[in-house]
Amino acid sequence: MHPERTESGCDEIARSARIWLIRRGVTAEDIAELVYVLQKDYIPGLTRDECLENVEHALSKRDVQNAVLTGIQLDELAEQGKLTQPLLAMIREDDRLYGCDEALATAIVGVYGTIGLTNYGYIDRLKPGILRKLDDRRDGETHTFLDDIVGALAAAAASRIAHRRAAVRV
Ligand code: MG
Repeated sequence: MHPERTESGCDEIARSARIWLIRRGVTAEDIAELVYVLQKDYIPGLTRDECLENVEHALSKRDVQNAVLTGIQLDELAEQGKLTQPLLAMIREDDRLYGCDEALATAIVGVYGTIGLTNYGYIDRLKPGILRKLDDRRDGETHTFLDDIVGALAAAAASRIAHRRAAVRV
């Protein structure tokens, strides 16, 4: 059997996505904090635990894990100079005309429906918390894909909260 079709293959992908995020300096709690910023004014009694639970749910989705692994790998290869030009320079310099980072993030942002898009656009402009840290990267660091992945994860988790709270009210 193909390794990724086995149960352990799925576990390995899920585990790797979490480990790689931490390796790049991003915890689930950092992402939960972004969710809290996005939703606190709209969801009465929202707690950070609820935000974290929804980040964990997003991270359990295979489409999300695939995007996390792909984006982080490209950032790391760019840092190590292991991509071929002209792609290497575009990713390293976060070229304004290179939009594949945002394109990859849409695989995450839409995982709980299209309302994630609004949150994603908003948080990308505001850049609170960990997003600001990733944006102010030190020399030699590349976070071209990671910033979009983290913003999209927060936006997706915020969407799930919004849907679930709306369902409860009906
Ligand atoms: Mg980016």
